[in-house]
Amino acid sequence: MKVKRKNGKIIHCIKERKYLEVGVAEISINWERRYTFMRYHTLLHLIAGYFYNRYQSKATSSQIKDYKARLDLQFPSSPPLDFKESEHEIQRMIKKGASVTTRTVPRNELENIPGSIKTVIDLIPRSVNDVRLVKITGIDEEACGGTHVNNISEVGEFKIIKVKNLGHNRDAWKYRLKFRTREILFFFKRLIYKFLRNSDRKLGRIHSVGNF
Ligand SMILES: [Zn+2]
Repeated sequence: MKVKRKNGKIIHCIKERKYLEVGVAEISINWERRYTFMRYHTLLHLIAGYFYNRYQSKATSSQIKDYKARLDLQFPSSPPLDFKESEHEIQRMIKKGASVTTRTVPRNELENIPGSIKTVIDLIPRSVNDVRLVKITGIDEEACGGTHVNNISEVGEFKIIKVKNLGHNRDAWKYRLKFRTREILFFFKRLIYKFLRNSDRKLGRIHSVGNF
């Protein structure tokens, strides 16, 4: 569902116009999906912050999809290829925990805040005067309008499942990291869903053979 803000009001846009009726509408959030996104999104901040602090890398793009995520990083010099060690260090940070907080600052103040914020200031539309910052205490602070968990400990265990070398030029080494959080519960849910879908297909096939 597309959601936008117009003249200070939040507007929800739905595709199926025929279901619209005049009056109060009740909407609900798929909390399991939302919470998963919040955890992955916070993990993206954490990984980007970790690599920035350690290797001065910049995050150039990211995506969260179907219980996995990816992050493209650009390193100013060749990074060590042992991403396993980084994974373990980030995992230790998650176990230790750190609070995630937000604050809003005027755009012109951002220029005076050292760190990774400067790298994205040009990407924020000129029309935005107040910028929301998301801070992982002691690790990272970044401009972001998304949803996050309150503490990185909520992210739980995660694994880097793929590291792809995207090549390099004289100034930048590019890598794409793919990762997923470990969730036994979600794993079993997906398994059951898959099983039910396959059973439907099998039943369908048997049924059609019977009719034939
Ligand atoms: Zn964010």
